[in-house]
Amino acid sequence: MGAASPDVEVAVVGGGIAGLSAAWELRDRDVLVLEADARVGGRLMSEPRGRYWLNFGGHVLAGEDSATGRLLAAAGVEAGDVPGVLTALAMNGRVLTGGRVETYPLRLRLTTAERLALIRAGARVRLAVLEYGRVARRRAGESEADRRARVLAYRDDRTFADFLGPVPAEVDAIFRPTIQRSSGEPEQVSAGYGIGYFHLVWDREGGLSRNVLGGSARLPQAIAAALGDRVRTGAPVERVVAGRDGVTVHQGDERIRARYAVVATPAFAARELLEGVPAETVEALGRVAYGPYVVGAFLTDEPGPMPYDGVYAVATPKTSFNMLFNTANVTRGPGPREPGGTLMAYSAASLADALADRDDEEVARIYADDVARIFPAVAGHIIEVRIRRWAHGLPHPRPGRHLLQPALERPLGNVFLAGDYLGTTYVDTAVATGTAAAHAIRRRLRE
Ligand SMILES: Cc1cc2nc3c(=O)[nH]c(=O)nc-3n(C[C@H](O)[C@H](O)[C@H](O)COP(=O)(O)OP(=O)(O)OC[C@H]3O[C@@H](n4cnc5c(N)ncnc54)[C@H](O)[C@@H]3O)c2cc1C
Repeated sequence: MGAASPDVEVAVVGGGIAGLSAAWELRDRDVLVLEADARVGGRLMSEPRGRYWLNFGGHVLAGEDSATGRLLAAAGVEAGDVPGVLTALAMNGRVLTGGRVETYPLRLRLTTAERLALIRAGARVRLAVLEYGRVARRRAGESEADRRARVLAYRDDRTFADFLGPVPAEVDAIFRPTIQRSSGEPEQVSAGYGIGYFHLVWDREGGLSRNVLGGSARLPQAIAAALGDRVRTGAPVERVVAGRDGVTVHQGDERIRARYAVVATPAFAARELLEGVPAETVEALGRVAYGPYVVGAFLTDEPGPMPYDGVYAVATPKTSFNMLFNTANVTRGPGPREPGGTLMAYSAASLADALADRDDEEVARIYADDVARIFPAVAGHIIEVRIRRWAHGLPHPRPGRHLLQPALERPLGNVFLAGDYLGTTYVDTAVATGTAAAHAIRRRLRE
């Protein structure tokens, strides 16, 4: 950096899991993390409640043989396989909490025509999920960036609704919550991405089926604790200016000069910060679509077993939320059933928009009523409800999204991008891209 030496070797902008993964990988180097919020973790957010925890953001994580699994192990944060059913469905007064999803058409209250349409649509999605599995499989010698680009290009020429074709309203109601879970509507998201979401949910081995014991915020907190004062919270960055010899990071009154910067904010924030990088990258960052979430986290005080003890995730068509999770499920091992528990409900995409004008108290009431309608045993046992709103909960690919990928993954000199928006597997993409940025910087530091 000219004659003067930089202030730090690496500045990491954003203390979500992408930025912290990069900083963790470079913990033996001179690294500084700048996080706008008062806490680290970004969209990984949970709060302890005795033996349980309330969860507000990411919760089910990829397995041991994944970027996330390796980070959890290295940071010494314990995670467990979720023992419960991941594909339960509550609809028309019936709760299906077991058996294969292929049997659902026979077990739901539907007319014969609806049943047949559901079988047809289910077979179509299942075949595509198999195809997606083949496309997404890791290939020998291939980089993760190439794999991400291939997965994004899969059936990226139309929406999921176009792929599924017209279906009766009851069948639409069954598929829609799972697509909404990815933060967009079937009419918005790419067909390939929607199919990929069913792959994530139906495939226990390759999908998302682990919980951090004590709550997912424990992972960012453990990394931040290890980094100590090299993580600054309450430090919003205003500009990241890339130059030939390094990067200048503007934070309040400070100008921090770094040899390299990892920009690990959401895409729309990175777009506002970055200067001195190609215009096509800035434009691509601005075109990544995000969808909103409203989350309700519940603490319960039941004295003994509940009907959802063996279930983790329930799709809940025709209610105010699209998914309900039994976030205490991972704590239910052999031995006596401990009293109490926690649940999480969320409304994504249009369901979140529908709650925009209601205040938190009203949303809490609506949610508690709907939870008790699905599981009457919970009535009278909800002792705390907390609402958290995410205006930009998740990025979701819309048709043509893969065309942005070259501009997002191209080399940017001394700046590296990291974050979930670079791929399709959320926390795991965030960790993988943060870690990859750190590896690239380490190689450059050695040169
Ligand atoms: C309700 C919900 C449920 C989810 N469930 C799952 C799940 O089960 N499994 C899963 O894998 N994923 C899930 N996700 C997604 C997952 O939480 C995210 O993919 C992941 O946490 C993203 O990490 P990130 O580091 O890329 O971004 P973020 O967590 O958004 O981190 C970016 C950080 O940058 C900071 N920042 C922004 N601007 C600036 C600035 N100017 N200066 C400094 N800092 C800045 C932000 O404050 C934030 O801390 C869920 C998300 C939500 C909302």
